[in-house]
Amino acid sequence: MSEPKLKAPRGTFDVLGEQAAARTALEARARAILEGAGYERIETPAFEATELFQRGVGESTDIVRKEMFTFEDAAGRSLTLRPEGTAPVCRAYVEHGMHKRRQPVKLWYLSSFFRHERAQAGRYRQFWQVGAEALGSEDPAVDAESITLLATLLREMDVRDVRLRVSSLGGAEARSEYRERLQEHLRANEASLSDDVRSRIDVNPLRAFDSDHPGTVRVMEDAPRLLEHLSEEDAEHFAEVRALLDAANVPYEVDSTLVRGLDYYTRTVFEFTSDALGAQSGVGGGGRYDRLVEQLGGPATPGMGWAAGIERILLAGEVPEVGQPTSYAPLELFLALERTDGETRRRAFVLLQEARSAGLKAQMDLGGRSLKGQLGHASALGARYVAILGSDGATFRDMQGGGQEQIATDAVVHAVLRGLHDL
Ligand code: AMP
Repeated sequence: MSEPKLKAPRGTFDVLGEQAAARTALEARARAILEGAGYERIETPAFEATELFQRGVGESTDIVRKEMFTFEDAAGRSLTLRPEGTAPVCRAYVEHGMHKRRQPVKLWYLSSFFRHERAQAGRYRQFWQVGAEALGSEDPAVDAESITLLATLLREMDVRDVRLRVSSLGGAEARSEYRERLQEHLRANEASLSDDVRSRIDVNPLRAFDSDHPGTVRVMEDAPRLLEHLSEEDAEHFAEVRALLDAANVPYEVDSTLVRGLDYYTRTVFEFTSDALGAQSGVGGGGRYDRLVEQLGGPATPGMGWAAGIERILLAGEVPEVGQPTSYAPLELFLALERTDGETRRRAFVLLQEARSAGLKAQMDLGGRSLKGQLGHASALGARYVAILGSDGATFRDMQGGGQEQIATDAVVHAVLRGLHDL
């Protein structure tokens, strides 16, 4: 009786073939852009103490309330698969004393994240993000540089119909005054709000701007706007960020309803969307989080960063020219075995290592094929040279030129190098 087939869990997928090649190309672009701007790679663990996200992302957010994959380890500690990258990066900043380094410390990552969301096109339960965080400076140039780097990445990936919206959430004081004003407005219109928004008037009134519930949308149309209540300093900071974006020719719209779904943002927030994506139009976004490091037990440290979804960039962009997937990259040497005895296989294996150490793209027969089958396989792989290992030495064949000669086994690597060099 055959066993039932197993499938990848709902909302997850395998990355194969062209998709894998496209991701490799995207990662190379991201690295070139970000490392060129002084960002260093960081990778944090796939899971963290649950408390990091409770404290960092915020108890009132959708992520913490209903989207985390949380489990207990054998010792009863609560762990959570990371739903986002900023809180872990800030945790690492504190844990490694990075405030002692020259500031700002700029870090980038490309990792997978986990959210228990309703799976659909462009929305998964395990997805990948490329992200960049700059910690330790409040300079508006950090904000503008950060946004510009993501704009550059999206442009280089040919993401279609991109729109950038920016806003400012101000500092702590303006925000708490504004919260009260907004709460009053929401309470006055409570009957028209969705249950979800109504239940969060106390904990997260700003999220009402993200609702698509018709009654809530109507109430929010004449809600007070935070942008109109910024302190002078915050307003100046935002004006400077905009002036720098203008100077860098990065087009944007100011959108006073933009609040973003995470609690940690202060001052600048932004989001890139693509109209090519349909319902899940967010490609990437982020903002400033000047209090997060302190909330996680570190020294007061401003921060600014973003994350962009790899799947959405690829969905809305042109899959870059990446040539053949590496497994089909033109092969320089194929080692065929005249006989499949242990001795010949071992000689071939040693020669394979020598060829690779010399920098050649080399493969040997691994399929136990007949000699004819091996030669067919070598030409299917596009091998430039084939060495057929016999009991004594090798037959060295030029698959393009067609010539063939008998040489010693230890002369094979040199013969390939000489042949390639003469091309
Ligand atoms: P966020 O951390 O929610 O601001 O997300 C940043 C970006 O990550 C979004 O703009 C999306 O491109 C991507 N993203 C977020 N959640 C998902 C998901 N469940 N599936 C795929 N991509 C996602």
